[in-house]
Amino acid sequence: MMNPDVVNFEEGEAFARRMDAEDPLRHFRDEFLFPRNKAGEPAIYFVGNSLGLQPRKAKQYVLQELEDWEKFGVEGHFHARSPWLPYHETLTAQTARLVGAMPLEVVVMNTLSVNLHLMMVSFYRPTRERFRILIEGGAFPSDQYAVASQARFHGFDPRDAILRLEPRPGEDTLREEDILDTIDRHGPEIALVLLGNVNYLTGQAFDMKAITRAAHERGCRVGFDLAHGAGNLRLSLHDDGPDFAVWCSYKYLNGGPGTLGGVFVHERHAHMPGIPRFEGWWGHDKATRFEMGPDFVPLAGAEGWQLSNPPILQMAALRASMEIFDQATMPALRLKGDLLTSYLEFLLDRLPPEMARIVTPRDLKARGSQLSLRFSKEPKKLLAKLVEAGAFCDFREPDIIRASPAPLYCSFLDVYRFVRILENHARA
Ligand SMILES: *Cc1c(COP(=O)(O)O)cnc(C)c1O
Repeated sequence: MMNPDVVNFEEGEAFARRMDAEDPLRHFRDEFLFPRNKAGEPAIYFVGNSLGLQPRKAKQYVLQELEDWEKFGVEGHFHARSPWLPYHETLTAQTARLVGAMPLEVVVMNTLSVNLHLMMVSFYRPTRERFRILIEGGAFPSDQYAVASQARFHGFDPRDAILRLEPRPGEDTLREEDILDTIDRHGPEIALVLLGNVNYLTGQAFDMKAITRAAHERGCRVGFDLAHGAGNLRLSLHDDGPDFAVWCSYKYLNGGPGTLGGVFVHERHAHMPGIPRFEGWWGHDKATRFEMGPDFVPLAGAEGWQLSNPPILQMAALRASMEIFDQATMPALRLKGDLLTSYLEFLLDRLPPEMARIVTPRDLKARGSQLSLRFSKEPKKLLAKLVEAGAFCDFREPDIIRASPAPLYCSFLDVYRFVRILENHARA
């Protein structure tokens, strides 16, 4: 496929149709089930960053587990077609490839906010001198509650302990140099740097490698919340080197509402049984788990942070999507994703400038598949009209509409039609 930096986008619909015809990933669209618009056609679905679409095969995979439960009862743990005891392991290799990690470094378990707390139990170890957590001022609320409650749990006042990065006056997004400068200036006080990647509101992506290196040089731990990064960005978690990362799997990863999240713990912590953690039987050495002894022996790597035996039905749905990601591969998806968002940007730039303003960085390295648009005129009403017209996107306070053409199932024609619908309704 073409290079999004040099392709000459064109305004007419014929261009979109030509791009779709040449798109090597176009057949993956058929693997997903779409909500319909009033005419009964598949909707334009630009909210895959909020809840991804259902893979066609999800139903079959979930039904298989219901059938095996019926047939085997408890013996399904061993005799189901995919035995439940090691079921989460069926996702490990794919997950590792997805985020650029070693299999030892990843596990699918729990949900995001739970995992964030579990990771902070191990990697936010404040002392009198080094007790602060660096986050974005515009971090997702759950992350803000999590860090504040962790600080309080350790006896610190969140007003002292939480250090916030803010854009410069008049700017929408953070400057990389300001992030690095803050780490440099406050390094010795910072116990943990915790950034979202991509930021859920602005769509800004950060250079994980540079931030991780700067933080480690100053002796800080580093974690990333990849709720909007997993299945969206090309990630190289092992090489970039953060201590941990967490993500959910119902956004770009299409695992279904409330499905299990993922965790990355860097290899450097894989064989350190002494790291403080909250313990549960599923993190215990597999060979002796069922001896039911009182002493916890953690599994090596990320699996050692598991607490409970996981919900199989949700994992079955997630499995259907992860197989598709593995076939499509992240490099190819990011390339198409950059073409889709660049094309969306090109068409939006041709609307009257007072209609909508793009908040997301224009640099491809500083974003994924989301463009955040700021509307001066009643964005909530506009959103309702868009959804009514079969163009799904979403609104976030105070005035932002997010549009995310996910490259697995969105087309160039979707982008073209989206902008035409937007133009009609924003004018009206
Ligand atoms: C979506 C999202 C969450 C959601 O957390 P859950 O525990 O899965 O409900 C958390 N953090 C960020 C940055 C998100 O975008």
